[in-house]
Amino acid sequence: MKHEPVHPAPSDADQRAAVPVVVCYPPETIPPLDSDLIAAARAGMVKVDEVVVSPREAATFEVSAGGLFRIVSVEGPQVGDLNLFHAHDLSERFWSGKTRALHGTHLSTGDRMWSTLPYLRPLATVTDDTLDWYGYDTDGGGVHDVIGTRCDPYTQHLLTCMDYHYCCHSNLTRAVARHTGRPEREVEPLVHDVMNVFMCTGFTLDTHQYFMKASPVRPGDHIEFLAEVDLLGALSACPGGDCGDEHSSDTATCHPLLVEIYESPVMESWEPAPASAYRWPTRPV
Ligand SMILES: [Zn+2]
Repeated sequence: MKHEPVHPAPSDADQRAAVPVVVCYPPETIPPLDSDLIAAARAGMVKVDEVVVSPREAATFEVSAGGLFRIVSVEGPQVGDLNLFHAHDLSERFWSGKTRALHGTHLSTGDRMWSTLPYLRPLATVTDDTLDWYGYDTDGGGVHDVIGTRCDPYTQHLLTCMDYHYCCHSNLTRAVARHTGRPEREVEPLVHDVMNVFMCTGFTLDTHQYFMKASPVRPGDHIEFLAEVDLLGALSACPGGDCGDEHSSDTATCHPLLVEIYESPVMESWEPAPASAYRWPTRPV
């Protein structure tokens, strides 16, 4: 245990814990994507653009609603930190916390990436994942987590008193600044908790602390998404490389990542989901 208890367990401690587990947010009532439509879209998809993300840097990319995009491992194992925004309103962005609450700690095919309040709609859905075979290993690790935040220079300074300027937070901030033409300090609050693409993570079985281990990704692997709205994406090739040792330094071997953008004729009439239909009461309650 991380903390040794200082209070004795009550006599009915075992009974208090021996109650059923209740899934907080069972997602089964959410209408799924039309699997036939997605299969047809994937069968007819054509690559229209690609963006190379250099090691220890980030890049932005845009995908129209109904388009697909892939993040591809090239050259060597590499973790990517992914931010997603509604392209026309950057205040609507990926909400890793609620996505985690709905779909679990690690995402794969069929899982949605939900947006922040008051919108709460799917920004993207995972449509293919060549690492879906990994599942959960004996350490409790899985790939593509939505539990980590992103490596950032503030935590690095807190823990080591060292300043490092190529953390994923820094890279994403610079990429969004370049895309918007706004100063880094101004766009920094838009950068948000990420999906850790290809990263292998979990919670230690004894202390439940966040851990990472070398990613099982290899060149040629990809994870693919449907853009459910017009998307602005930002992807950082983490300075931790495969995140098998350390991050937030120039020590790890790093590789580029490739983002491929696809369009499919069958998705031309795709309609994004509306923002949440919840309305505040017109009178105080
Ligand atoms: Zn990182």
